[in-house]
Amino acid sequence: MTFVDLVADVRACTICSAVLPLGPRPVLQVDRAARVLIAGQAPGRKVHGSGVPFDDPSGDRLRDWLGLTPAEFYDPALVAILPMGFCYPGSGGSGDLPPRPECAPAWRERLLAGLTNVQLTVVIGQYAQAWHLPNAPKSVTETVAAWEQSWPEVVPLPHPSPRNNLWLRRNPWFATDLLPVLRHRVAEIRAG
Ligand code: SF4
Repeated sequence: MTFVDLVADVRACTICSAVLPLGPRPVLQVDRAARVLIAGQAPGRKVHGSGVPFDDPSGDRLRDWLGLTPAEFYDPALVAILPMGFCYPGSGGSGDLPPRPECAPAWRERLLAGLTNVQLTVVIGQYAQAWHLPNAPKSVTETVAAWEQSWPEVVPLPHPSPRNNLWLRRNPWFATDLLPVLRHRVAEIRAG
């Protein structure tokens, strides 16, 4: 199977349609040329509606963290966006539900195997960190604080959601120490 066929199969996937409150709508951005991979969580309701990944306040903050314009961020030859679950999983009492557990086992390894030009993987939140950094500490705070252990190939980030404003205030080292280095690295990769 070619990579193009694989991506077409993902976009047509209905594996867990019976439990998706709004039905399947895989939201991803992928091209074999991508040099930065963003491994996120799952689309929210707004992104489910638009079909555009990170088309929300979380995306605005993530682009700022990476130092990328919207045009650069949505250039699939530069950035691949593969959340742990490709479809909106619904919401519960404390926000969106976790990514559907069927998704990553069905698709992730084969998609990642095709992304041979990736130089930096940006790993957002606990579910992506459990997959991409299996030996990391359990808590997101500890994992992000230990970011230099996987640098420069992999960088763990907290979720850029406005829900994490308190986390950002409590961890000022994230903005002063990590973000300048991350922006510099992304600029280097973008420049080729
Ligand atoms: S979440 Fe993943 S496994 Fe479930 S229907 Fe969407 S693409 Fe398929």
